[in-house]
Amino acid sequence: MSDIVVVGSVNIDLTTHLPRWPQIGETVTATRTQAGLGGKGANQAVAAARLGAKVSLIGAVGADGFGQQVTALLTEANLDLILETRPGEATGMAFIDVGPGGDNIIRLAPGANASLTPDIILRHAPSIARAKILLLQNEIPLAASLQAAQIARRHGVTVIMDPAPAPQPMWAADTLAHFDILTPNAHEAALISGHTPHSLIEGEMTASALTRLGPRGAIVTMGAQGAAWQIDASRGHKAAPKVKAVDTVGAGDCFNGTLAVFLAEGATPEQAIQMAVDAAALATTRAGAAAAAPKLSDLLGFQAEQASPPLTTH
Ligand code: ADP
Repeated sequence: MSDIVVVGSVNIDLTTHLPRWPQIGETVTATRTQAGLGGKGANQAVAAARLGAKVSLIGAVGADGFGQQVTALLTEANLDLILETRPGEATGMAFIDVGPGGDNIIRLAPGANASLTPDIILRHAPSIARAKILLLQNEIPLAASLQAAQIARRHGVTVIMDPAPAPQPMWAADTLAHFDILTPNAHEAALISGHTPHSLIEGEMTASALTRLGPRGAIVTMGAQGAAWQIDASRGHKAAPKVKAVDTVGAGDCFNGTLAVFLAEGATPEQAIQMAVDAAALATTRAGAAAAAPKLSDLLGFQAEQASPPLTTH
Protein backbone atom coordinates (compact mmCIF):
# COMPACT_ATOMS: atom_id res chain seq x y z
CA MET A 1 0.00 0.00 0.00
CA SER A 2 1.36 3.41 -0.95
CA ASP A 3 0.77 6.61 1.00
CA ILE A 4 0.99 8.68 -2.16
CA VAL A 5 -0.57 7.88 -5.53
CA VAL A 6 0.36 9.95 -8.57
CA VAL A 7 -1.93 9.75 -11.59
CA GLY A 8 -0.20 11.47 -14.47
CA SER A 9 2.13 11.74 -17.39
CA VAL A 10 5.25 9.78 -18.21
CA ASN A 11 7.58 11.11 -20.91
CA ILE A 12 11.00 10.66 -22.33
CA ASP A 13 12.72 14.07 -22.35
CA LEU A 14 14.99 14.43 -25.37
CA THR A 15 17.17 17.47 -24.73
CA THR A 16 19.59 19.16 -27.11
CA HIS A 17 21.84 22.08 -26.17
CA LEU A 18 22.30 24.41 -29.13
CA PRO A 19 25.10 26.94 -29.70
CA ARG A 20 22.53 29.22 -31.40
CA TRP A 21 18.89 29.04 -32.46
CA PRO A 22 18.41 27.70 -36.02
CA GLN A 23 16.45 29.56 -38.69
CA ILE A 24 13.56 27.70 -40.34
CA GLY A 25 15.04 25.21 -42.83
CA GLU A 26 18.50 25.35 -41.21
CA THR A 27 20.41 22.58 -39.38
CA VAL A 28 22.42 23.43 -36.27
CA THR A 29 24.62 20.80 -34.61
CA ALA A 30 23.94 20.28 -30.89
CA THR A 31 26.78 20.63 -28.39
CA ARG A 32 25.21 18.14 -25.97
CA THR A 33 22.24 15.75 -25.99
CA GLN A 34 20.51 13.89 -23.21
CA ALA A 35 17.62 11.39 -23.00
CA GLY A 36 16.03 11.38 -19.55
CA LEU A 37 12.87 10.64 -17.63
CA GLY A 38 10.24 13.39 -17.67
CA GLY A 39 6.55 14.10 -17.58
CA LYS A 40 5.01 15.88 -14.61
CA GLY A 41 3.50 12.70 -13.18
CA ALA A 42 6.80 10.81 -13.29
CA ASN A 43 8.71 13.80 -11.90
CA GLN A 44 6.34 14.23 -8.95
CA ALA A 45 6.44 10.50 -8.19
CA VAL A 46 10.24 10.32 -8.29
CA ALA A 47 10.55 13.44 -6.10
CA ALA A 48 8.29 11.87 -3.45
CA ALA A 49 10.03 8.47 -3.60
CA ARG A 50 13.51 10.08 -3.25
CA LEU A 51 12.39 11.39 0.13
CA GLY A 52 11.61 7.84 1.24
CA ALA A 53 7.83 7.74 0.74
CA LYS A 54 5.94 4.73 -0.64
CA VAL A 55 4.64 5.98 -3.97
CA SER A 56 2.50 4.47 -6.73
CA LEU A 57 2.43 5.94 -10.23
CA ILE A 58 -0.55 5.30 -12.49
CA GLY A 59 0.15 6.22 -16.12
CA ALA A 60 0.59 4.98 -19.67
CA VAL A 61 3.50 4.40 -22.04
CA GLY A 62 3.69 3.21 -25.63
CA ALA A 63 4.78 -0.27 -26.77
CA ASP A 64 8.13 1.10 -27.94
CA GLY A 65 11.76 1.36 -26.88
CA PHE A 66 11.23 4.65 -25.07
CA GLY A 67 8.48 2.98 -23.05
CA GLN A 68 10.93 0.30 -21.93
CA GLN A 69 13.55 2.94 -21.14
CA VAL A 70 11.29 5.09 -18.95
CA THR A 71 9.88 1.99 -17.25
CA ALA A 72 13.42 0.95 -16.31
CA LEU A 73 14.17 4.43 -14.94
CA LEU A 74 10.95 4.48 -12.92
CA THR A 75 11.66 1.00 -11.55
CA GLU A 76 15.11 2.19 -10.43
CA ALA A 77 13.38 5.05 -8.61
CA ASN A 78 11.65 2.51 -6.35
CA LEU A 79 8.08 3.24 -7.43
CA ASP A 80 5.12 0.92 -7.38
CA LEU A 81 4.41 1.14 -11.11
CA ILE A 82 0.89 0.80 -12.48
CA LEU A 83 1.72 1.54 -16.11
CA GLU A 84 -0.56 0.65 -18.99
CA THR A 85 1.30 -0.23 -22.19
CA ARG A 86 -0.79 1.18 -25.03
CA PRO A 87 -0.30 -0.71 -28.31
CA GLY A 88 -0.24 1.58 -31.33
CA GLU A 89 0.68 4.63 -29.23
CA ALA A 90 4.10 6.20 -28.83
CA THR A 91 5.50 6.96 -25.39
CA GLY A 92 5.04 10.65 -24.51
CA MET A 93 7.98 12.72 -25.72
CA ALA A 94 9.19 16.18 -24.82
CA PHE A 95 11.67 17.65 -27.29
CA ILE A 96 13.57 20.26 -25.29
CA ASP A 97 15.94 22.62 -27.09
CA VAL A 98 18.14 24.67 -24.80
CA GLY A 99 19.52 27.82 -26.42
CA PRO A 100 22.86 29.53 -25.79
CA GLY A 101 21.44 31.67 -22.95
CA GLY A 102 19.87 28.70 -21.15
CA ASP A 103 16.38 29.58 -22.42
CA ASN A 104 14.37 26.73 -23.92
CA ILE A 105 11.71 25.74 -26.42
CA ILE A 106 9.69 22.60 -25.65
CA ARG A 107 7.64 20.64 -28.17
CA LEU A 108 5.43 18.11 -26.39
CA ALA A 109 3.95 14.97 -27.98
CA PRO A 110 1.58 13.45 -25.38
CA GLY A 111 1.36 10.05 -27.14
CA ALA A 112 0.17 7.33 -24.74
CA ASN A 113 -0.53 9.90 -21.97
CA ALA A 114 -3.49 11.17 -24.00
CA SER A 115 -5.03 7.69 -24.06
CA LEU A 116 -5.60 7.43 -20.29
CA THR A 117 -9.36 7.09 -19.88
CA PRO A 118 -11.63 7.20 -16.81
CA ASP A 119 -12.19 3.42 -17.31
CA ILE A 120 -8.48 2.70 -16.99
CA ILE A 121 -8.33 4.79 -13.80
CA LEU A 122 -11.39 2.97 -12.44
CA ARG A 123 -9.56 -0.36 -12.78
CA HIS A 124 -6.97 0.94 -10.34
CA ALA A 125 -9.45 2.45 -7.88
CA PRO A 126 -8.27 0.30 -4.90
CA SER A 127 -4.75 1.76 -5.13
CA ILE A 128 -6.15 5.29 -5.02
CA ALA A 129 -8.65 4.51 -2.27
CA ARG A 130 -5.95 3.22 0.11
CA ALA A 131 -3.60 6.23 -0.25
CA LYS A 132 -3.37 9.34 1.92
CA ILE A 133 -2.61 11.79 -0.88
CA LEU A 134 -3.47 11.79 -4.60
CA LEU A 135 -1.27 13.99 -6.82
CA LEU A 136 -2.58 15.21 -10.17
CA GLN A 137 -1.32 17.52 -12.95
CA ASN A 138 -2.61 18.56 -16.39
CA GLU A 139 -0.71 16.36 -18.85
CA ILE A 140 -3.37 13.64 -19.13
CA PRO A 141 -7.04 13.98 -20.16
CA LEU A 142 -9.05 15.93 -17.58
CA ALA A 143 -11.72 13.18 -17.50
CA ALA A 144 -9.12 10.70 -16.21
CA SER A 145 -7.93 13.14 -13.52
CA LEU A 146 -11.52 13.83 -12.42
CA GLN A 147 -12.22 10.10 -12.16
CA ALA A 148 -9.17 9.71 -9.92
CA ALA A 149 -10.24 12.72 -7.83
CA GLN A 150 -13.75 11.30 -7.35
CA ILE A 151 -12.41 7.94 -6.17
CA ALA A 152 -10.02 9.70 -3.79
CA ARG A 153 -12.68 12.02 -2.36
CA ARG A 154 -15.02 9.06 -1.69
CA HIS A 155 -12.31 7.51 0.47
CA GLY A 156 -11.07 10.59 2.32
CA VAL A 157 -7.86 10.85 0.29
CA THR A 158 -6.57 14.44 -0.07
CA VAL A 159 -6.43 15.53 -3.72
CA ILE A 160 -3.65 17.92 -4.77
CA MET A 161 -3.90 19.30 -8.33
CA ASP A 162 -1.14 21.25 -10.08
CA PRO A 163 -3.01 22.86 -13.01
CA ALA A 164 0.07 22.77 -15.23
CA PRO A 165 0.54 23.19 -18.11
CA ALA A 166 -2.19 25.83 -17.88
CA PRO A 167 -5.51 24.46 -19.21
CA GLN A 168 -6.80 26.30 -22.31
CA PRO A 169 -9.47 27.44 -21.61
CA MET A 170 -8.89 27.56 -17.86
CA TRP A 171 -11.12 25.27 -15.77
CA ALA A 172 -14.27 26.71 -14.28
CA ALA A 173 -15.26 26.49 -10.61
CA ASP A 174 -17.23 23.23 -11.08
CA THR A 175 -14.01 21.51 -12.17
CA LEU A 176 -11.80 23.20 -9.54
CA ALA A 177 -14.20 22.03 -6.81
CA HIS A 178 -13.00 18.41 -7.37
CA PHE A 179 -9.64 19.23 -5.80
CA ASP A 180 -8.69 19.87 -2.16
CA ILE A 181 -5.49 21.83 -2.74
CA LEU A 182 -4.48 23.64 -5.93
CA THR A 183 -0.78 24.34 -6.55
CA PRO A 184 -0.55 26.66 -9.58
CA ASN A 185 2.48 28.79 -10.38
CA ALA A 186 1.90 32.54 -10.59
CA HIS A 187 1.05 32.39 -14.30
CA GLU A 188 -1.52 29.62 -13.86
CA ALA A 189 -2.96 31.29 -10.75
CA ALA A 190 -3.43 34.49 -12.76
CA LEU A 191 -5.31 32.63 -15.47
CA ILE A 192 -7.70 31.16 -12.89
CA SER A 193 -8.17 34.17 -10.63
CA GLY A 194 -7.66 37.07 -13.04
CA HIS A 195 -4.95 38.61 -10.78
CA THR A 196 -1.21 38.34 -11.46
CA PRO A 197 0.59 38.21 -8.11
CA HIS A 198 3.87 40.16 -8.14
CA SER A 199 4.91 39.66 -4.51
CA LEU A 200 4.42 36.94 -1.91
CA ILE A 201 1.83 39.11 -0.14
CA GLU A 202 -0.08 39.40 -3.41
CA GLY A 203 0.40 35.63 -3.80
CA GLU A 204 -1.45 35.16 -0.49
CA MET A 205 -4.36 37.23 -1.78
CA THR A 206 -4.41 35.21 -5.00
CA ALA A 207 -4.37 31.96 -3.01
CA SER A 208 -7.33 33.23 -0.94
CA ALA A 209 -9.20 34.11 -4.12
CA LEU A 210 -8.61 30.58 -5.46
CA THR A 211 -10.07 28.99 -2.33
CA ARG A 212 -13.28 30.94 -2.94
CA LEU A 213 -13.67 28.92 -6.18
CA GLY A 214 -14.08 25.59 -4.37
CA PRO A 215 -10.81 24.01 -3.18
CA ARG A 216 -10.16 24.32 0.56
CA GLY A 217 -6.56 25.26 -0.11
CA ALA A 218 -4.33 26.89 -2.68
CA ILE A 219 -0.57 27.32 -2.81
CA VAL A 220 0.76 29.75 -5.41
CA THR A 221 4.38 28.95 -6.30
CA MET A 222 6.36 32.01 -7.34
CA GLY A 223 9.70 30.80 -8.67
CA ALA A 224 12.74 32.37 -6.97
CA GLN A 225 10.42 34.33 -4.63
CA GLY A 226 9.02 31.23 -2.89
CA ALA A 227 5.38 30.28 -2.28
CA ALA A 228 2.22 31.76 -0.72
CA TRP A 229 -0.80 29.89 0.55
CA GLN A 230 -4.29 29.87 1.97
CA ILE A 231 -5.33 26.47 3.36
CA ASP A 232 -8.42 26.37 5.56
CA ALA A 233 -7.85 29.21 8.06
CA SER A 234 -4.08 29.26 7.58
CA ARG A 235 -2.59 31.91 5.34
CA GLY A 236 1.04 32.89 4.81
CA HIS A 237 4.13 32.76 2.67
CA LYS A 238 7.60 31.29 2.66
CA ALA A 239 10.43 33.03 0.84
CA ALA A 240 12.72 30.71 -1.13
CA PRO A 241 16.31 30.33 0.04
CA LYS A 242 18.76 32.12 -2.27
CA VAL A 243 20.48 29.56 -4.47
CA LYS A 244 22.49 29.51 -7.70
CA ALA A 245 19.82 28.01 -9.95
CA VAL A 246 21.18 26.13 -12.99
CA ASP A 247 17.97 24.42 -14.21
CA THR A 248 14.48 25.25 -12.99
CA VAL A 249 12.73 22.57 -15.12
CA GLY A 250 10.75 20.35 -12.75
CA ALA A 251 10.95 22.72 -9.74
CA GLY A 252 7.17 22.72 -9.42
CA ASP A 253 7.06 18.91 -9.66
CA CYS A 254 9.63 18.59 -6.88
CA PHE A 255 7.56 21.07 -4.83
CA ASN A 256 4.41 18.95 -5.21
CA GLY A 257 6.14 15.63 -4.54
CA THR A 258 7.71 17.00 -1.35
CA LEU A 259 4.48 18.63 -0.19
CA ALA A 260 2.67 15.29 -0.54
CA VAL A 261 5.33 13.38 1.41
CA PHE A 262 5.17 15.63 4.46
CA LEU A 263 1.38 15.97 4.43
CA ALA A 264 1.11 12.17 4.24
CA GLU A 265 3.41 11.92 7.27
CA GLY A 266 1.04 14.15 9.25
CA ALA A 267 2.95 17.44 9.04
CA THR A 268 0.94 20.66 9.14
CA PRO A 269 0.48 22.44 5.80
CA GLU A 270 2.93 25.13 7.00
CA GLN A 271 5.62 22.53 7.80
CA ALA A 272 5.04 20.69 4.51
CA ILE A 273 5.26 23.94 2.50
CA GLN A 274 8.52 24.85 4.25
CA MET A 275 10.03 21.50 3.19
CA ALA A 276 8.63 21.85 -0.34
CA VAL A 277 10.07 25.35 -0.86
CA ASP A 278 13.51 24.22 0.33
CA ALA A 279 13.49 20.95 -1.68
CA ALA A 280 12.44 22.76 -4.86
CA ALA A 281 15.15 25.40 -4.37
CA LEU A 282 17.74 22.66 -3.95
CA ALA A 283 16.43 20.91 -7.10
CA THR A 284 17.07 24.08 -9.16
CA THR A 285 20.78 23.82 -8.35
CA ARG A 286 20.93 20.52 -10.27
CA ALA A 287 20.36 19.62 -13.94
CA GLY A 288 17.39 17.57 -15.12
CA ALA A 289 13.76 17.25 -14.06
CA ALA A 290 13.17 13.99 -12.16
CA ALA A 291 16.95 13.60 -11.78
CA ALA A 292 17.25 16.85 -9.79
CA ALA A 293 14.95 15.91 -6.88
CA PRO A 294 16.87 15.61 -3.57
CA LYS A 295 17.10 12.68 -1.17
CA LEU A 296 15.91 13.34 2.40
CA SER A 297 19.49 13.45 3.73
CA ASP A 298 20.44 16.06 1.08
CA LEU A 299 17.38 18.14 1.92
CA LEU A 300 18.06 18.07 5.67
CA GLY A 301 21.76 18.86 5.04
CA PHE A 302 20.80 21.79 2.81
CA GLN A 303 18.43 23.14 5.45
CA ALA A 304 21.10 22.81 8.15
CA GLU A 305 23.73 24.75 6.20
CA GLN A 306 21.36 27.27 4.60
CA ALA A 307 19.71 29.99 6.67
CA SER A 308 16.34 29.34 5.04
CA PRO A 309 13.97 32.30 5.43
CA PRO A 310 11.29 31.72 8.09
CA LEU A 311 7.61 31.22 7.40
CA THR A 312 5.30 34.20 7.65
CA THR A 313 1.80 33.25 8.82
CA HIS A 314 -1.26 35.32 9.60
P1 ADP B 1 6.84 25.77 -11.92
O1 ADP B 1 8.14 25.03 -11.96
O2 ADP B 1 5.66 24.88 -11.76
O3 ADP B 1 6.68 26.82 -12.96
P2 ADP B 1 7.81 27.70 -9.94
O4 ADP B 1 8.69 28.29 -10.99
O5 ADP B 1 6.96 28.64 -9.16
O6 ADP B 1 6.85 26.57 -10.51
O7 ADP B 1 8.75 26.89 -8.94
C1 ADP B 1 8.23 26.06 -7.92
C2 ADP B 1 8.98 26.29 -6.63
O8 ADP B 1 10.37 25.99 -6.85
C3 ADP B 1 8.96 27.73 -6.10
O9 ADP B 1 7.83 27.96 -5.28
C4 ADP B 1 10.26 27.79 -5.30
O10 ADP B 1 10.02 27.22 -4.03
C5 ADP B 1 11.19 26.87 -6.09
N1 ADP B 1 12.03 27.65 -7.03
C6 ADP B 1 11.84 27.80 -8.36
N2 ADP B 1 12.82 28.58 -8.91
C7 ADP B 1 13.64 28.90 -7.89
C8 ADP B 1 14.85 29.68 -7.78
N3 ADP B 1 15.39 30.29 -8.84
N4 ADP B 1 15.43 29.79 -6.56
C9 ADP B 1 14.89 29.18 -5.47
N5 ADP B 1 13.77 28.44 -5.51
C10 ADP B 1 13.15 28.30 -6.69
